Amino acid sequence: MADILYTYKNQVYANITNRCNCNCTFCIRSLKGAVGDAETLWHKTEPTLAEIKKAIDDFDFTNYNELVFCGYGEPTCALDNLLASAAYVKKKHSISIRLNTNGLGNLYHNRNIIPELAAVIDNVSISLNAPTAEKYEAVTRPQFKNAYPALLEFASLSQAEFQHTQFSIVDILPEDEIAACQKVADDRGISLKIRKYS
Ligand code: SF4
Repeated sequence: MADILYTYKNQVYANITNRCNCNCTFCIRSLKGAVGDAETLWHKTEPTLAEIKKAIDDFDFTNYNELVFCGYGEPTCALDNLLASAAYVKKKHSISIRLNTNGLGNLYHNRNIIPELAAVIDNVSISLNAPTAEKYEAVTRPQFKNAYPALLEFASLSQAEFQHTQFSIVDILPEDEIAACQKVADDRGISLKIRKYS
C-alpha cells in the first residue's frame, strides 16, 4: 500500500486515488513516484474507505491546520471515498479541508457534485492550466470533449458553495499565458495562485 497521507513543506496531503481523467504533459507522476515524506504515491490497488480512515486515524494532525485532498490522481474520480473521508476528518478534527482538483468532476459524473463536496470540504483549488480551450486540450489531454468550458463552469459554481475558490497554474507557462490566465480568473472574480513547478 502506498502512502495515503503524506506531508510536504509543512502541509498534509491525502492521496486517495491514482485514477485521473486527464493526461497532463507536466504531470509530476511521470517524473517521480513520490513527494515529500511519502515513499511511494502509486497505490497497488485503489485505497478502500477503511484504509483511508485508518490512515487518518494513524496520522497526528497536531500542528496542521489544513488537510489537502490532492493525491497522485484526481480526487473526484474517487468521489464516494472523497466525500466520506472528508466527512470523517471533519468529525474528528477541527482543521480546514481543501480539495485540489482539475475541475472536471461535474463532467466526469455527469451531474453537479459541488454541493456534496462543499458540505464536507471548505476550500477548492482548481487547476486552470491554460488560458484557452485549445491550449488546455494540448496541455492536459482530457478524456472529454468540452473540458475547458466545463472546468470554467465548475469554478463559477464553486464560488457560490465553497468558502474560498481559487484557480491555480504552474509557473512554467510563458509570461503571456500567465497574464491571459490572470485575466480569465479576474473576469470571474476568482483568485489565481501561480504555483512553483517542482
Ligand atoms: S489532472 Fe493532475 S493527476 Fe491528472 S494528469 Fe493532470 S496533473 Fe496529473
